[in-house]
Amino acid sequence: MNFKRDLLINNLGIKEEVLNLCEEAEKELQEEFEKLKEVREYNQYKVLNVMQECRLSDTHFNWTTGYGYNDIGREKTEEIYAKLFNAEDAIVRPIIVNGTHALSLCLTGLLRPNDEILSVTGKPYDTLEETIGIRESKGSLKEFGITYNQVDFLENGSIDYDGIKEKINERTKMVFIQRSKGYSWRDSLSIEDIKKVVDLVKSVNENIIIMTDNCYGEFIETKEPTEVGVDIMAGSLIKNPGGGLALTGGYIVGKKELVELISYRLTSPGIGKECGLTFGTTRNVLQGLFMAPSVVSQAVMGAILCAKMFEKLDYEVCPKSNERRSDIIQIVKLNSAQEIIDFCKGIQAAAPVDSYVSPEPWAMPGYDSDVIMAAGAFIQGSSIELSADAPIKEPYCVYFQGGLTYEHSKFGVMKGISQILK
Ligand SMILES: *Cc1c(COP(=O)(O)O)cnc(C)c1O
Repeated sequence: MNFKRDLLINNLGIKEEVLNLCEEAEKELQEEFEKLKEVREYNQYKVLNVMQECRLSDTHFNWTTGYGYNDIGREKTEEIYAKLFNAEDAIVRPIIVNGTHALSLCLTGLLRPNDEILSVTGKPYDTLEETIGIRESKGSLKEFGITYNQVDFLENGSIDYDGIKEKINERTKMVFIQRSKGYSWRDSLSIEDIKKVVDLVKSVNENIIIMTDNCYGEFIETKEPTEVGVDIMAGSLIKNPGGGLALTGGYIVGKKELVELISYRLTSPGIGKECGLTFGTTRNVLQGLFMAPSVVSQAVMGAILCAKMFEKLDYEVCPKSNERRSDIIQIVKLNSAQEIIDFCKGIQAAAPVDSYVSPEPWAMPGYDSDVIMAAGAFIQGSSIELSADAPIKEPYCVYFQGGLTYEHSKFGVMKGISQILK
């Protein structure tokens, strides 16, 4: 027995049959993994090229105090983000507390009373339901007289282009696209799909603002939504683009006039982007961005391995191991609540932090069933780090994502499956 197998089986609690299954799966995935390398390499050069063109220097890792006027680190970070995403301007700040906040700033900054927002990818991410007022909530867009409409996916899972055309009306100010499948059993939108939506909407009315929720999508493909005509887009720094190193924050990139309007909601009208401290976070944000193409690629490899191993055990997965991906999430349909709990306990036991605690289902606010979450991350709540979560209800789907290194994702899957088979 070689030393790696010995460590995994005798010290780290991996069942030998699971290790064998994993090695088999890996062998069969070589071609899939090879394809990812091209994307990763291209994105690494793309990031490097922008950092060089923007003349990033170590003085940009310093920060100011008080109002934060002329914070050159903040300005450089935003210049790099804008250029990287082929956008005119950007807001990248630690005072954006999460992805929801970044997205919500875009909505509140751009929409006015009597405007309508049209989501063309079904219901948006859970937390946005309260921002928009789909679920009753204080301070929602609905309270300000902004209405909401939605186009669902067709039965075969594709985008309902005719439905989009039908539902655009004279009050439609914004079309909203969620790139990632999030927590639904559907395909994520490819950049090509997003381009089709953009072209269609602009052909109906070129003044409609097209916004994309890019959470979990960054660096999966060689292009990003703003490179195919999306006007404004936002995401979280503790997901893909922070590369596991950003301590907190969110980003918004897009057309200059739109970013300006949003900046007046970020701080206050008249002040906009000119103020606001970075608290010494620019180094982590930019080093994380530098690492992101590689980290994201390894997380995707982990997701593909997870899909493949469960396929070999005859479970249903979404997406399948050989299907195109546009985010880092892997869904597995398990057989019972017990299997969900076991898998999540395995993921937790595979973590570098808090590996000794055991996750339990609990009644999380905002959910209609108990939820279990497994993660032992260096950054609280970071989902570019390895994590798994699931509502405890049929169809018993568990959501697996992240891993700063491929080996860690792989270890997590093996540990999770070992726990199920116990
Ligand atoms: C994570 C995520 C968000 C925002 O979530 P936060 O936890 O607030 O960062 C929004 N949309 C999608 C698709 C996401 O994955």
